[in-house]
Amino acid sequence: MNAASFFSPDYATARAKFLAAAGAAGGTVATYLHPLRGPEGEELATDAVRLGPADAHRYLVLNTATHGVEGFCGSGAVVGCLYERLDRELPKGVALLLIHAINPHGFAWLRRVTEDNVDLNRNFLDFSQPLPVNAEYAPLHPFLLPRDFTGEERAHADAELLKARERLGPRGFQKAVSGGQYAFPDGLFFGGLQPTWSNRTLRRVLQDQIADATHVLFYDFHTGLGPYGCAEPISGHAPDTDGYRRLLAWIGDCVTSAHLGNSNSTRLSGTIGYGVEQALPNAIHTKTTLEYGTRPNEYVHLALRSDGWLHNYGDLASPRAKEIKALIRDAFYRDYDDWKELVYVRARQLIRKGIAGLAGQ
Ligand SMILES: [Zn+2]
Repeated sequence: MNAASFFSPDYATARAKFLAAAGAAGGTVATYLHPLRGPEGEELATDAVRLGPADAHRYLVLNTATHGVEGFCGSGAVVGCLYERLDRELPKGVALLLIHAINPHGFAWLRRVTEDNVDLNRNFLDFSQPLPVNAEYAPLHPFLLPRDFTGEERAHADAELLKARERLGPRGFQKAVSGGQYAFPDGLFFGGLQPTWSNRTLRRVLQDQIADATHVLFYDFHTGLGPYGCAEPISGHAPDTDGYRRLLAWIGDCVTSAHLGNSNSTRLSGTIGYGVEQALPNAIHTKTTLEYGTRPNEYVHLALRSDGWLHNYGDLASPRAKEIKALIRDAFYRDYDDWKELVYVRARQLIRKGIAGLAGQ
């Protein structure tokens, strides 16, 4: 195994590897074309492949690039899964669904958000109902994304954020900034005002590919929180639920929960797991985020502010844009062989555990 070879330097290469490997594994790839193009004019799409026994109704679903630029990680994991033919290990009754780049626009353009600045993992809400209010975000917004990102205005903004961090505490500050907000469409962690393309596409993929599911175990690959190369399975279920108990039984007590305060993540609104449940209402669902560490929080936070500033006020053709794109790529993807190996080895362990868990149902 050369895990580094599973990973790709950009979206187009990642997609080509996935399509070739899925074909070589005997799968039929379903392609969902995105209406826009990538920075090099390349086609953007979500691609999905179902592998395993035709009569299987219990599915392990591996979903990647929910947060665009985090897709380097998930793509490497699913390509590795195909190169190593983990589908050949599937027991009777269990199949795999691999979803490559549910947010292809963000992956290609090196953004965490979708083409409409939406945080896809805050976008799965019932938009006919009043949206969650994150009152702590509003006063921070002008300081997170000041118009002038270099001079005095920036220094003032940083000082104000520091004060807010002291007032709210590190966890309170993290929740205010990243928990999700629905009031500033040009802001950070904006959850959208309607289901975005990637939201609608995920539902289509699930309905097209695995409408027959009786059990779904959903792994959603992310990066940017936690120690270098470590995977934190963050439960998609509240404690004291059957879903949480299944995760503990199948994956182990490394499973964390934002409800219990033992996760690097805080509680979020509108996460993707709700979309999976809605798309497949007759299945029993077990869902977890797999959050891989990259860089310290402060580094990731600065990368997100910089990228938000660039797309609000900057010039995408400028040398500054190149620097910021390098910064955000580096914040969410550690382009080193040891990091890739850590990512893949842990992914493979968790995939095997998940398959064994589903097999016991
Ligand atoms: Zn993420």
